[in-house]
Amino acid sequence: SVKENGRSSYQFYNTAMAKKTYERLALERDLRLALERKEFLLHYQPQIGLETGMVGGIEALLRWRHPERGLVSPEVFIPVAEESRLIVPIGEWVLYTACKQNKAWQDAGLPKVQVAVNLSIHQFQHAEIVDTIARILRETGLSPQYLELEITESIAMHDVEQVIRTLQALWDMGVNISIDDFGTGYSSLNYLKHFPIHRLKIDKSFLDDMVSNAKEREIVAAIIVMAHSLGLQVTAEGAESLEQVHILNGYRCDDVQGYIFSQPLPARAFAELLEKRKVYYWSGKAVGGGRG
Ligand code: C2E
Ligand code: MG
Ligand code: MG
Ligand code: MG
Repeated sequence: SVKENGRSSYQFYNTAMAKKTYERLALERDLRLALERKEFLLHYQPQIGLETGMVGGIEALLRWRHPERGLVSPEVFIPVAEESRLIVPIGEWVLYTACKQNKAWQDAGLPKVQVAVNLSIHQFQHAEIVDTIARILRETGLSPQYLELEITESIAMHDVEQVIRTLQALWDMGVNISIDDFGTGYSSLNYLKHFPIHRLKIDKSFLDDMVSNAKEREIVAAIIVMAHSLGLQVTAEGAESLEQVHILNGYRCDDVQGYIFSQPLPARAFAELLEKRKVYYWSGKAVGGGRG
């Protein structure tokens, strides 16, 4: 009967929900232990300056090596870390490790580059974020100009006065600030007038259809023109083909980060790449690609 069907689908739903909740709790429980068990590591992806073909910056990307699950994607565990606020201590580990690594590379005589670290909204809103960053720079000895913080447009939907005060304090410290995943948020462009920032990172979704879709190209071109007229640098994220790189260069995009040049690499592999002072000859010759 209808009633029986109704009840069994309700029970099924309940079981599926319970399973999901259990999974989520198991993940959170393991995440809580991951820091002390030293299961986190960073991978580094180069950002290539199109004019020079050289590595101008690096993005540090968090990886979790789970004892049973293997390498867990940040797309899976970052949301759990954010909901549980574990992102604050984990994010601090990321900041410290990225700054320390970058300073070690500089001390080893490798070319000096900026390292970009993703900051979640909860980290950004944390009362001590400015002090934490100042302390990490002091402890690691990295000069602030070699640190970039990536935040998303969603911060524009929070207490704007507070956001501006924090960004200004970071700017005054000499740290660089970029807007990640630009164009995917629900916020207006209004914040671009008021926020002290250095760079926009155009989201991969705009690049995906760029080759086949003229409207998508026009949007990318317009973002780059607007950013430059506001005095901002532009990085395009997620370029996988040479054709995309050529189009982006035609629009005077500053930097490109994507698999066409390199996937995110473990620290050691990245150091080799810096050591070689690798130049990516994208116009004409083949580019790096793959894992270096
Ligand atoms: P994101 O900050 O936008 O980072 C770029 C993502 O795009 C990275 O994924 C990178 O591996 C990927 N990517 C770069 N080039 C290409 C390409 O050509 N093709 C494709 N298909 N993908 C490309 P990843 O490492 O899986 O990180 C995913 C997201 O997780 C990041 O997006 C960021 O939002 C978050 N995340 C990673 N590390 C951290 C962290 O330390 N803290 C916080 N709060 N979030 C992080
Ligand atoms: Mg990012
Ligand atoms: Mg991004
Ligand atoms: Mg993203």
